Parts: sequence; structure tokens; C-alpha cells
Amino acid sequence: MSLIEDNLNKVRSTLPQGVALLAVSKFHPAEMVRQAYDAGQRLFGENRPQELKEKYALLPKDIEWHMIGHLQTNKVKYIAPFVAMIESLDSERLAEVIEKEAAKCDRVIDCLLEIHVAREQTKSGWDFDSLEEFVRTGGFKAYPHIRIRGVMGMATFTDDEAVVRGDFMRLAECKLTLAQYFGEEFDTLSMGMSEDYPIAVECGATQVRIGSTIFGPRVY
Ligand SMILES: *Cc1c(COP(=O)(O)O)cnc(C)c1O
Repeated sequence: MSLIEDNLNKVRSTLPQGVALLAVSKFHPAEMVRQAYDAGQRLFGENRPQELKEKYALLPKDIEWHMIGHLQTNKVKYIAPFVAMIESLDSERLAEVIEKEAAKCDRVIDCLLEIHVAREQTKSGWDFDSLEEFVRTGGFKAYPHIRIRGVMGMATFTDDEAVVRGDFMRLAECKLTLAQYFGEEFDTLSMGMSEDYPIAVECGATQVRIGSTIFGPRVY
């Protein structure tokens, strides 16, 4: 058994049924994605459009690729033809561009609303109040090629478990509040990374995004 398979099995054994595992392969070579694929993994996450496009070309086509990093509008075109989900939809401007590029490919692209709850200023994501206002006034109705599937977010980077838990509870609350504006397809709560995913699962995550625990440390 490969080390990656071993790591994957360990992580899987800690996840309750109904929690999907997104293997975050950013900065790791296609070779390693292949090993995870051979161990049965099909959901992968990347945070740079060009890297995502390159790996898509090299690897089996039944992989579901999720974009999880901040997405610049001029790069949407690289991934629009094949991406399974954009988890980092964080502005109206980006939604406009995803709509346009998805329409060109004749696709409807699944997206998550990335919401900013962490204490750091640097992390991307909507401010919840402006997002709710946008959603309440029918903002997404203008985008027939975008299907909003739920919420994504990151907790504050800290050892203080209470703070992390508070952030995840807040994300769960945001998802609950927004659900009234969407249909049954609004079913995803993507939160939790290698260091904090058990807490995210306790707070109701339906998908965790795990990189280093599966693939080892990243070399930037
Ligand atoms: C890199 C990344 C992850 C995975 O982080 P690990 O700590 O390696 O598990 C999860 N979510 C996002 C948005 C990321 O950029």
C-alpha cells in the first residue's frame, strides 16, 4: 500500500458517513494525485487555475476537480470547461464572469459561497451581511449557468479551539440562514482542513478539505 493510500484510509476512517473528503493536491505533482486516484479518491481540490488545468489534462477524466482558492476573473476561462465546483465564489463580479464563461461552454457550474468568518483580514470571502442582502434581493437569479450548492469557509488560524469552533458554528449558521433562499440543491457546507477538520465535522461540515495529512507538507 502506498503512503498516500495509507493516509487516505486513516482520514476516511475518522469521517462519519455523509461527510465528503476533498483531497487538496495543490503544489503536489500529478503523480501523487494518481496514487490517491488509484486508492479510490475521486474528489480533488486545487487553488491555482493553471495548475488545475495542467493536472486535468494529465489525469483520468472521472476526477471531480474543485477550485478552492481565490479566483481572479481573468482566469475563470481556464477552468470553466471542466471544473466540477468552484468553492471560492466570493464576489458579484466573479459571479458575473463565471456566468459568462459557463454559458460559453454551455455548462451550469456548481459553486459555493465563500464566507469570511476568520479573524485574519487576509482571508477572502464575502462579508455575510452584504452576501445576504445580495441573495435576498435575488442577485443569483441573474445567473442561470451558476448553481449555488452551499457555503465554504475557513476558521481563524489559531490553536485556540474555542475560536475555531466559534468560526465553524458561525459558518453553519450562515448556511442555515441562506438555505431559505435556495432549493434542495443548497446542501453543502465545506469547512475543515488537516489541523481542524474534526471540529468542523462536529459543527456540521458535509465536506472537509484535506491536503497535508494526505500528501505531506507542501514545498512552495
Ligand atoms: C490548502 C487548503 C486546504 C488544505 O489545507 P491542509 O492544511 O493542507 O489540509 C483547505 N482549504 C483551502 C481553501 C486551502 O487553500
